[in-house]
Amino acid sequence: MGKPTGFLEYDRVDNTTRDALERIKDYNEFHDALNKEERVKQAARCMNCGVPMCQSALKLSGMVTGCPLHNLIPEWNDEIYHDHTEFALSRLLKTSSFPEFTGRVCPALCEKACINGKDGCAVTVHDNELYLIETAFAKGLMKPVIPAVRSGRKIAVIGAGPAGLAAANELNHRGHTVTVYERDDRVGGLLMYGIPNMKLDKSVIERRRALMEEEGVIFKTGVDVGKDIKGKDIINEFDAVILCCGAKKARTLAVPDADKTEGIYPAVDFLKSTTKALLSGMDKTDYISAKNKDVVIVGGGDTGNDCVGTCIRHGCKSVTQLEMMPAPPVERSASNPWPEWPKVLKTDYGQQEAIAVFGHDPRIYETTVKELVVKKGKLTAIKTVKVKFENRQMKEVEGSEQTLKCDLLIVAAGFLGCEEYTAESFGTKLTTRNVVETEPDHYRTTIPKVFTAGDMHRGQSLVVWAITEGRAAAKEVDEYLMGYSGM
Ligand SMILES: Cc1cc2nc3c(=O)[nH]c(=O)nc-3n(C[C@H](O)[C@H](O)[C@H](O)COP(=O)(O)OP(=O)(O)OC[C@H]3O[C@@H](n4cnc5c(N)ncnc54)[C@H](O)[C@@H]3O)c2cc1C
Repeated sequence: MGKPTGFLEYDRVDNTTRDALERIKDYNEFHDALNKEERVKQAARCMNCGVPMCQSALKLSGMVTGCPLHNLIPEWNDEIYHDHTEFALSRLLKTSSFPEFTGRVCPALCEKACINGKDGCAVTVHDNELYLIETAFAKGLMKPVIPAVRSGRKIAVIGAGPAGLAAANELNHRGHTVTVYERDDRVGGLLMYGIPNMKLDKSVIERRRALMEEEGVIFKTGVDVGKDIKGKDIINEFDAVILCCGAKKARTLAVPDADKTEGIYPAVDFLKSTTKALLSGMDKTDYISAKNKDVVIVGGGDTGNDCVGTCIRHGCKSVTQLEMMPAPPVERSASNPWPEWPKVLKTDYGQQEAIAVFGHDPRIYETTVKELVVKKGKLTAIKTVKVKFENRQMKEVEGSEQTLKCDLLIVAAGFLGCEEYTAESFGTKLTTRNVVETEPDHYRTTIPKVFTAGDMHRGQSLVVWAITEGRAAAKEVDEYLMGYSGM
């Protein structure tokens, strides 16, 4: 521990955030790093607890608390405090494949489990991680690690999201020859075409791709496996295959005529079209625009929030987020004690921006869409209704219908597992949750040579879980190919 009294002497200070009304004028990241002097103090707040919950990934009340990657958080906080960037980096990279992604987008399960967090002032683990990896890139410490010996084994990874990238990175470092097939034109999965640029600048993904290519990973983008190439042909060509295709089958709107009406889009299609346009020049490309529109987003979660922030940047006339569930409590309830994940109300960046622009929180709780109002095939309004849950059954509240003007409806209501065609092409079984079946806590599918990881295996989750699964699947593949694994 760098400074035993650090947590008593220094208050938590977060990275600064650009003012909401300023940042909505562009799509750039909006957190500014603290200076080194302040960062060192933040690292000194880590107490190196005897039982560091932050790195535990303990399952409590059916939820994981602490970092799934088991990041060696107290160790690298200590090294940051002593300004030993290289040592800190070596401890960070031991467990974490892409700290530049998690340091930006991870909801920081570690901080929720930090003992300092019991009074609401956890160590700034997330910002410390980002400081460390960005300092390492800036100082030229992130050099390509090229294996001295190649094993002669060939592995195909299908899907270049965080799970596929993590698996490819690990197996390449082990000396296997890895080819990553990706359906989209760019790698990154939902890091690229889901999470908006404001949270994760896309150049960060391109920087990692370039590093991995220098290290020997082969990327084949624009290849839809299962359509452009058959699974059987991949199995024949490679010694092992890992399916990391995500869980992007979006839940649709269960309202009459939703499939025939103009003006309704799944959230990821909406977000992807903005990012694509941003990367090729917004003025040169068509995208699903919210400009001057009354937007309603179905779904009060994180994806919905990303849509709110994006609509505001487009210049929408109004934005409303509908959520079926009641608003969570502002503070932890007695049944949800530390160090469990806190089920409390979070007002995220998009919602903060909506409050700054329109003067109120965009979320309406316990409400859903009942009917569409359509003129000449185009959406003009929606009828909403209040809902209540009785014995886990959703019931409409009689007489609570209201009409909301709406000419753009974005559906951010969750996902229903993976798109089946890739799994079918490899002959792998799907579970009742529509994800690829394996033994519990394993990654090998029912088909020889074929493994799976990430959302395609666990269902829609988090980047940190995708990376954790990608690394674990890589280890299982290595054991399968070599008979043992030191990974
Ligand atoms: C809008 C949105 C915002 C999110 N924000 C956050 C966040 O802030 N923090 C966080 O931790 N998590 C967030 N998540 C969740 C997180 O992005 C996912 O859990 C994570 O990306 C899953 O990684 P993955 O590699 O398993 O799958 P994905 O990221 O979905 O990647 C799968 C890849 O496989 C490719 N693919 C699919 N089928 C084929 C095929 N047949 N052939 C070739 N390629 C194929 C896809 O094109 C894609 O690139 C968000 C999710 C969404 C939808």
